This record gives sequence, structure tokens and C-alpha cells, in this order.
Amino acid sequence: MNKKFDLIVIGAGSGGLAAAKRAAKYGAKVCIIEGDKIGGTCVIRGCVPKKLMVYAANSRKNILNSNGYGLTHEQLSFDSKYLLKSIRNEVDRLSELHLNALEKLNISIFKGWGRFKNKNELDVITSDKKNILKTISGEKFLISVGGKPIKLNIPGSEFSWSSNDIFELEKLPKSILIIGGGYIACEFACIFNNLGIHVTQLLRSNNLLNGFDLDLSSSLKETMKSSGVRLIFNDELIKIQKKEEFFDFILNSGQKFNAESFLYAIGREPNLDSLNIQELKLKMNGKFIEVNEFNQTNQSNIFAIGDVVDRPNLTPVAIEQGRVFADNFYGNLKRSINFEYIPKAVFSNPEIATVGLTEKEANNLYGSENIKIFKCKFKPMSDTFKNINSKCLLKLVVNKSNDKVIGCHMFGESSAEIIQMASIALSMGVTKKQFDSTMALHPTISEEYVTMY
Ligand code: FAD
Repeated sequence: MNKKFDLIVIGAGSGGLAAAKRAAKYGAKVCIIEGDKIGGTCVIRGCVPKKLMVYAANSRKNILNSNGYGLTHEQLSFDSKYLLKSIRNEVDRLSELHLNALEKLNISIFKGWGRFKNKNELDVITSDKKNILKTISGEKFLISVGGKPIKLNIPGSEFSWSSNDIFELEKLPKSILIIGGGYIACEFACIFNNLGIHVTQLLRSNNLLNGFDLDLSSSLKETMKSSGVRLIFNDELIKIQKKEEFFDFILNSGQKFNAESFLYAIGREPNLDSLNIQELKLKMNGKFIEVNEFNQTNQSNIFAIGDVVDRPNLTPVAIEQGRVFADNFYGNLKRSINFEYIPKAVFSNPEIATVGLTEKEANNLYGSENIKIFKCKFKPMSDTFKNINSKCLLKLVVNKSNDKVIGCHMFGESSAEIIQMASIALSMGVTKKQFDSTMALHPTISEEYVTMY
């Protein structure tokens, strides 16, 4: 049956769900199409299951390092089957909550994959792409199909895992090679290492976390090395040989080693394959869909948000784009997004979090003579009785001409929680003088931000 909707949302992830719910609250007739579980990358195979794994890994590490407090344990065992199953149960619960919320708002849910027929009609097809389940038409379309992991094109890659596969495993391996140096690679390296898995991380470049402040990435590099992650820089995987119970890896440098499994975390790209967007003649920006400030494509009734557009590919950004889209087109509110102070975190161990400009970006923009850097590095009190060589780092980047704090960076325990709050101050234009006149909360790590001279 053909139905005409005010809004057809393709993809029930962070952005699509936010847009569909907000538009329906304004009274629009909305449908959402999803080929997988409701929730998208963040809920099903990203932020949420990953953070639950981080809690598990950090708990194990803390228990193993608790002797200094007089706490001893006879034997600590870890059942990865139990953990993975618990995470899947939680993910299913959250997916169900989203489903209920959509139903309460009378949003029609179509299970299947959206494929454009033309710019006003969309087929909902089965996973094998053979059958059309229904054809729907709408006034506006919102493309929120997210991203997908990239894999290397070398023989043997078919045996690799991507981040998607990790959460579907029955149990975790004993050893793993992680290829990549971005936030997903570093997070999984820390998670697995702290769960007692032998981790080798391989990078083409000579540093972790391209785009983050160098002081932060260098601090993480040192900590990961000292906590047992084997890091290999400036090298590439050229050959993979499958053996009975493990894989042999051969690198460009000639180095050889083996591991039970390997994970590609070398980046992500928009997941547009099944959409037939060629039919729409959308203007592209490389692999991303080009949009204007209202997330509108060159086809005036077609919009795109989230990981398919060239903006920071993060859940809160996708959600805000979805809400702003609905506010503008169904709520009659003229709103736009401020992309200037987007906080980012790496849930490594310890965490990295950052908001505003890195030292390098500030130097490039204003000249190093116009920038003042404040930083301090120290052993956190929580590690006093632990036998680990740890340091946390706090850093401020200040514009000398107006005293504004334009970058706030942290490596250490609870960085993400602290930087979320700092981002409010930075987006309000806080000055270094205002940081200095703020009373410290003692004893904390973040009090150093208001006592740095
Ligand atoms: P998604 O959430 O990916 O949703 C897209 C949905 O569209 C999916 O459900 C997909 O099945 C569906 N779909 C695709 N094609 C079609 C089609 N043709 N028809 C119908 N449905 C379709 N971000 C953070 O902010 N913090 C984090 O800590 C964080 N951790 C991450 C960890 C990992 C391992 C990964 C992979 C990502 C992480 N992210 C994190 C990024 C975050 O998950 C994404 O930026 C966010 O989910 C993007 O939302 P989206 O709406 O664009 O797409």
C-alpha cells in the first residue's frame, strides 16, 4: 500500500531517531526505516557496548592493582562469554526502549532497507535485496544511515573483525592484533589489555590519535606501552597467513608475529551502498553527502545528517543535527548548530578528553607568539598505592590578546566527565582570569585547572 508521509527517515540510529521523534512531536506524519535493530551504531555496536566493556576492563585493572590498599585476592577469573552476553542483553533493552518511544509517538516503523526509487519514492527491501516489501512516498526524506568500518584490501582480510563484530562474539580471544591508531583502535587496545588479552597495535604513522593535542597522544602512548600494549609504529600489514589456531602476520619491515585474531580499526565511511543515491544525483563531498547549514542536499526535499555528512562523526552531533532539522522544518524554530566547541573523548585507560583548539591548531590560527600554554603533569592520588607508573596531564590553551581559554585538554581519570563541564565554560567565552578566580574543589585532579600559573 502506498502511503504519503510528511517525513521518511532512513536509518534508526542516533540522528534518525532524534529527528523522527522531534518531528512527530510537532505533529508531522513520520515513518522510519531500519534494516537492523533499532538504535544504530551508538546503541548496538558503538558507544554503549564499548563503554560497558570499558567499565569491565577498568574494574579488572583496579582489582589487580588494589594490593596497596590491603586488598588481596586469591585468584581473579574473567568470563568473557558472560560479559558479552550481559552487554547484548543491555543493548536489546535499550533498543526496545527506543522502539516503544517510536510507537508511542505513532511513528510508522518499517523493517527493511531503504532504497530510493526516485526523489519522491522509496522502496523498502529485504536484506538479500531481492524483494521489495513496500514502496512509500513522502514530502521530505532524511538520510541518516550512518557509517561503516573500512577494511584493508589484502588477502586474508576476510578473516578480520571490525568493531561491529566484537560485540557479536561468543567469547573474547587470548591475543589480538589491532590495526589503526584512531580513537576506536586505542579504546579497544586498552579494553582488551586490561581484560588480560595480549594486544599488539599496529600503526602506519608514528603517533596515536591523529588530530588530538600531541601532549595527550604522547601521554597515552607512554601509558599504553608501560601497561603492556605492544605498539608498532611506522609499519604496515602486508601478508596474513591463516594457521589452525592463529594467524601469522607479516609487516612491511619484515617483522613477523602471530595472534589469535585481528581487528581493523582504520576508519569509517558513509554507509550509502544500498540507498541507490546515484538515482538522486546528490552532490557529494568526497564520500560524504554535501549539505547546507540546514542539512539540505542539492535536492530540496532530501536531507542528510550524522555520519553521512562531513562533520564530527559523534552521537551528540548526529542527535543535534536531527533535532535542529525537525525544529526548523516542523517546529518553525530557526536554529542552527554551533560546531565550535564540540567536546571529544577517548575512553582509553586513562581517558583523554578535549574541547577547543589543540596547541598546534591555535599556533597555526593565531601565531605561537599570541598563545599561552598552561600545563601540569602529576601522579594522581588514586594511583598512590598502586604499583603503576602513571601521570595525568591537564592543559589550557589561552589567547593572549583577550585572555580567552580556547582549548582545554586532559589525560587522566574522569577526563570525559570533567571536559564536558569545561566545554560549557569555553562555549560561553571563559577567560583564564575567570578560571583563576574560581574556587578549587579539593582534593581533585581538576582543581589544577583553577590553580595553574
Ligand atoms: P547510526 O547510529 O550509525 O545509525 C544508522 C542506522 O541506519 C543503522 O541502524 C543502520 O542499520 C541503518 N541503515 C543503514 N542503511 C540503511 C538503509 N539503507 N535502510 C534502512 N536503514 C539503514 N560517538 C560518540 O559520540 N561517543 C563515543 O564514545 C562513540 N564511540 C563509538 C565506538 C564505536 C566502536 C563506533 C563504531 C562509533 C562510536 N561513536 C561514538 C560514533 C557514533 O556511534 C556515531 O557517530 C553515531 O552513531 C552516528 O549516528 P547516525 O545517526 O549518523 O548513524
